[in-house]
Order: sequence, then C-alpha cells, then structure tokens
Amino acid sequence: MHYAQHLEIQDKQLLKTLSYVNGQWLDSDKKVSVINPANGCEIAKVSNLGDHETAIAIKYAKAAWPIWSLKPAHERAQLLRAWFNLMMEHQDDLACLLTKEQGKPLNEAKGEIAYGASYIEWFAEEGKRVYGDIIPAPSDEKRLIVLKEPVGVVTAITPWNFPNAMIARKAAAALAAGCTFVVRPAIQTPLSALAMAELADRAGIPAGVFNVIVGDDAPSMGKVLTQHPEVAKFTFTGSTEIGKKLIAQCATTVKKVSMELGGDAPFIVFDDADVEAAVQGAIQSKYRNAGQTCVCTNRIYVQQNILQEFTDKYLLAVKELTIGNGMEEGVTIGPLISAEAVSKVDKLVKDSIDMGATLLVGGQVDKAGGNFYQPTVLSEVTNDMPIVQNEIFGPISPIIAFDSEEDAILMANDTEYGLAAYFYARDIGRVWRVAAKLAYGMIGINEGIISNAAAPFGGVKQSGNGREGSKYGLDDYLETKYLCMGGLTS
Ligand code: NAP
Repeated sequence: MHYAQHLEIQDKQLLKTLSYVNGQWLDSDKKVSVINPANGCEIAKVSNLGDHETAIAIKYAKAAWPIWSLKPAHERAQLLRAWFNLMMEHQDDLACLLTKEQGKPLNEAKGEIAYGASYIEWFAEEGKRVYGDIIPAPSDEKRLIVLKEPVGVVTAITPWNFPNAMIARKAAAALAAGCTFVVRPAIQTPLSALAMAELADRAGIPAGVFNVIVGDDAPSMGKVLTQHPEVAKFTFTGSTEIGKKLIAQCATTVKKVSMELGGDAPFIVFDDADVEAAVQGAIQSKYRNAGQTCVCTNRIYVQQNILQEFTDKYLLAVKELTIGNGMEEGVTIGPLISAEAVSKVDKLVKDSIDMGATLLVGGQVDKAGGNFYQPTVLSEVTNDMPIVQNEIFGPISPIIAFDSEEDAILMANDTEYGLAAYFYARDIGRVWRVAAKLAYGMIGINEGIISNAAAPFGGVKQSGNGREGSKYGLDDYLETKYLCMGGLTS
C-alpha cells in the first residue's frame, strides 16, 4: 500500500533542479539525471555544473563573509531558527524527495529531516555562546586575551546516504560560527540539498552565505573546493579512501580540515546482557537505511554461552523486516543505492560462505530484483574475513563467537577504523572496563542509536577527525586569536 498523501510533494517549489549560488538559481546546458534507486526511474534532470562555477560560488561566499561574520550572533540565530522552522514545516515534502532519490523508508526519511533540522536548531542557540578567555598574565603590566573568530569560507562535500542531515550538521555549525558555506552534494542525491537551499532562501539567509553547487565531476570540483586560496576550511563526509585524497589536496594551502569517514562498527553482546534488548539494538543499528550508515553495526560478537539464544532471537527479528519501495507503508528495508553497491555486498557474502561462514537467512538479491538485497545473517564468521575487515554498507549481519572479554576487545579493535562501537552488558565493572578499552569515537552502551545534536559525532583512527554537533561542534569553524596587551602599568 502507498502512503497516498506522500506520493507527490505538496509544495512544488521544493523540487529544484538548478544550483543555488549567491541567492540565484544557476542553470547550465549540461544536465544530469537523478534516478530513483527503488525503480530506476528518472525523478528529475538537474543542471550539471563544474569547476568554473564552483570557483564562482567560492568567490560569492567570500564576498558575503564580512557582513555575515560581523552580524550579531543573535541575528544569525534568528535566521537559523527560521530555517529550522521551515524545514520542520515541510518535513513531509522533504522526506518524500529524500526517499525518492535515496531509497530509505519514508518514516526514516522523516526522521532524517527532523535529525538534520535539530542541528540547525542546536547551533542557532550554541552560536550565541562563542566565548573567549582571559588568561592570568605572567606580569602585572600585561593582559592576555583569547578571542574566537569564524574561520571564513567553508567548503564541503557530502555523501548520498544522509542527503539532508550530512549537510545540515556542517552548515548549521559553520553559519552559526559566522562562516559562509559552499557545498557540493553527492550526485545521486542533489534534490534534498537544493530543497534546503530553497528553504534557506525563504528563511532570509543572505545571498552568498549558503550555496549548493551540483555537478557530476566530483574530482575536478573537489580540487577547487580543497585548493582554492580563498577557502579557509574544508569539511568532508564520505569514505576513508576519498577522504585521504582530499586531505592531501588541502595540504597544498594548509586548510583547516575535518573528516567524517568510514566505520566498521563492532556490536558486542556479553553473557550478562539483556539479550532481548541487545537483539533490538542490533536490528536498529544494523538495518537502518538498509545498512548504509557509517555507524551501522558491521560485525556482531556474541559470547559463546549465549550464542544460540542470541542467534535464534536475532533471526526471528530479521525475518520480520519488510523489503520494498520506501514509499510503501510498512517497508523497513529499502533498496541499496546502486547496482554496484548490490554487487559489492553480494561478493562479500559469497566470499564469506566460500571461506567457511554459514548462511542463516537471505544471501541474495531479493525477488523484487533491482537494487534490493535481502536482509542477511551469517554465522561462523571469523575476524580475518573481508566482510569483517571492510565496511559492508548493506543489510548483512556477520555473527562471530567469542569466549572472553579480552578476546572481544581485541577483535573489536582490530581495524583501521574507529567511528562507532556498541556493547551490551549489565555488570558495571565490565561496562567501564570495556568502554575504556574500545578505541572508538562513539560508544553505544546498551543502546543501538546514539546520535543526536547535543552529542559530539566523530571518529578516531582512520574514521576521521573533528566533531559535529554538541558544544564541541563549533570549534572546527573557529580560529583562536590571542591578544597580548602590554604597557598597562602607570
Ligand atoms: P565516497 O565515494 O567517498 O563519496 C562521498 C562524496 O565524495 C560524494 O559526494 C562523492 O561524489 C565525492 N567524491 C568521490 N570521489 C571524489 C573525488 N575524487 N574528489 C572529490 N569528491 C569526491 O563515499 P560514498 O560511498 O558515497 O559514501 C559512503 C561513505 O561515507 C561510507 O564510507 C560512510 O561510512 C561514509 N560516511 C561517513 C559518515 C560520518 O559521519 N563519519 C557519515 C555518512 C557516511 P559523487 O557521489 O558524485 O561520486
């Protein structure tokens, strides 16, 4: 059954197909198609810009910066608040666009809009609290003062898996801090970004402050965004592989950089855990967005003496998941983003089985065909298998047995990634020990969903640097300026 009221967006002006630069909608002769991953149909043709227009957008962002940065923080806050209000007023339409271009179930898409908007609300407030410091001076004739100032023009590249929230998390902090912003969204999902631009425009955010530039040549646009001398800071969300290249590009002009990269989240279930709660937490963390989130559970470790109980209950829960077009009511697993993603996931599953894993459920492209892959569970997986060592980005749960707490921690930390980890345990000593030893930026303890605007989101190791959200989230968009005032004795 369809969600009838969501088949079409109500406010047609939210379906934008031109880029948004300096408060104007920018067309081009070249177009690029936006395809619905659930059915392969074209949703829209979008203007396809390149490096030249990217440099123009940066120029306008630079021109807008002095006025924006000098605006009192409470005035910036009012504009951000207006943007937040409009996003929430249009939550249903924004979610509809998002599901159509990205595939996730409509309820999840609505959740993403509220989640993205919550960062705009959060930073509207937090921007008023950019405090400096006065430091006790080493001598009476001096005063030492620290000011926090916006860095300047910020550029960003964002991925397709959260087409709204990955932009909102960055733009909210940048704008609140007094920076101007140019984002290039992933080419699969530009419509959510352009709808955000339409609402920023309606909110009265001045021309040049928030710019969205769409084009299919990511490497050449990326070069401009990372190397342009007028850009002070570059922020990226995407894979570790591309993130490394972009960091190197930023080195040429020594830009401030923050990176939200890939993950390989372990989910550990100890024998003192509430098994029912662990099953629910694992399902939420693994199967949201069909397994295509950076904090998705990638591998499940279960203590040997509760392995059977956990696996039985987990399988029952996985069999309740409903695969289909995200616009249909009751669907909990949408399509993967592309045919390439399906092939990659399928190969990881087949290779695991060849290496000795046992297939408990799923394991193939769904009968619906296209980009739909069945929710899959594998047991008797070992830590050296590619499915454990790589980010799966699909609806696959590899289950690995362990004997001792030490073994679980060793295996969980045996990765180059360090974004999110989860564990379920009741013993308070164990909870503190394990939390201290897991080398991750974020840890869910008896929780499968951990991200919110009040909390610092980010990773360690090759999962990146910098934090989004929370009181720490503004730091990435601020410079520290030290004033030493001398000659103060009479
Ligand atoms: P990706 O291949 O790294 O792409 C991400 C973005 O980078 C897209 O906009 C892409 O553009 C662009 N891009 C690709 N090659 C580029 C190049 N040479 N120069 C400049 N830009 C380039 O990642 P993905 O597979 O789309 O996204 C999933 C990844 O993002 C996963 O690894 C996931 O863990 C990570 N992620 C991390 C977080 C976090 O907060 N840590 C959150 C969400 C996702 P095109 O789409 O046009 O190719």
